[in-house]
Amino acid sequence: MNESGVRLKKKSSPYGVKVPERKLTAQRPIERAPLPERAIISLHQNIGAASQALVRRGDRVLTGQKIGDSDKLISAPIHATISGEIAGTTMVINPATARPVEALVVASDGADEWVQLEPVENPEALSPKEILDRIREAGLVGLGGAAFPSHIKLAPPGDARIDTIILNGCECEPYATSDHRVMLECGEKVLSGLNIIRKLLSPETTYIAIEDNKEDAIEHMEDLIVAMGFKEDIKIVPLESKYPMGAERILTKLLLGREVPIAGLPLNVGVVVHNVSTTKAIHEAVVEGKPLVERVITVTGAVNSPKNLLVRFGTPLGSLIEYCGGIVGKANKVILGGPMMGFAQFDLGFPTMKGTNSVVVKEDTIVTEQCCIRCGRCIEICPMHLMPTLLAKYAKAGRYDQCKAAYVDNCFECGVCAYVCPAKIPIVQYIEMAKRELAKRAAKK
Ligand code: SF4
Ligand code: SF4
Repeated sequence: MNESGVRLKKKSSPYGVKVPERKLTAQRPIERAPLPERAIISLHQNIGAASQALVRRGDRVLTGQKIGDSDKLISAPIHATISGEIAGTTMVINPATARPVEALVVASDGADEWVQLEPVENPEALSPKEILDRIREAGLVGLGGAAFPSHIKLAPPGDARIDTIILNGCECEPYATSDHRVMLECGEKVLSGLNIIRKLLSPETTYIAIEDNKEDAIEHMEDLIVAMGFKEDIKIVPLESKYPMGAERILTKLLLGREVPIAGLPLNVGVVVHNVSTTKAIHEAVVEGKPLVERVITVTGAVNSPKNLLVRFGTPLGSLIEYCGGIVGKANKVILGGPMMGFAQFDLGFPTMKGTNSVVVKEDTIVTEQCCIRCGRCIEICPMHLMPTLLAKYAKAGRYDQCKAAYVDNCFECGVCAYVCPAKIPIVQYIEMAKRELAKRAAKK
């Protein structure tokens, strides 16, 4: 522990890889992106059920107005991200599931007129139920990429005892810097949101995990923890910069020595992991009464002027790239979420969503898959102790039951096996295929 009593000893992991960080925007302050003329707002932006539209073509909507909701347990409402008129509906392909989802199109009136927000003067006086209701009504989901509804994650089943909260500020994906900038520029809100979830879960221990390539963020959060009076309750753990250090399972193992069970969650071992941008949004929802209509997105790679932008959901990718000065050179591929775990998106009209944390423009190179040379690198590197080479082989041959027997469900698709494979085998794509087929079979039963 250091002088302030807040920063603990740095930890490193035997697993994972050093990847080129390419944090081009680490020192670029957050800028507000222009509002879109038409916002394409998907009705399915979370894990769980899609929302049903609450508005019709021709309706006038205000920024922050709820325009979609579901009565299913695992769901999160959707809000208008600009004011204007509902111009109709369209379909967009969800890159994570490759499935079409319905979206509402809002034609801007240029006014950005908001609904009346309902801030609270004394958040300490709110009951746990009131806090969870405000989080749900604001449409909050995990902003680290998973997009799991936050009010569900923060209300563990009765028999689950949460003793530790880990706030995840690792941001180990190459290029991404949105969480870094959020810690530097909105650290008070991040800690206020963290304090709200501490009130809900009453943990014994709270850690903030930050990779050591963000020393300025570590120092800033350390100072804020002291200044805001959380010195006894919240500790910072610096981590060696390595991919995939920010994965929930890795953090749980590294900080607490606990293994998350196969197909389980950190919750199963008494831990809740939240992302720093999520706790900022929790502060805004609970204290300011502000629905989730925007987030910080890193737009980077082969663009003229990479930036960290505060973007309203539904803004087309093309207009963000244009705002960053357009594409440089022969770049022809856009990745949502980063090169290790992200999804390629070839349609620049595709809208940003709650789970979009970065937009990376790259030149796509044609890579030819070779035969496995049995070097074993993928096995050595896999943080889940799986046999990626076998999983790829079984999936390629359609032997999905063998994939299941080889614990394919425990793969969290970090991509390091494919990254180190000298034969350029797209191991993660094979694994995704096997998981999809197994899920289809399970749904038929
Ligand atoms: S098998 Fe899955 S968890 Fe293991 S390295 Fe590959 S992608 Fe990561
Ligand atoms: S890293 Fe690639 S070539 Fe080596 S064992 Fe794994 S799949 Fe085979």
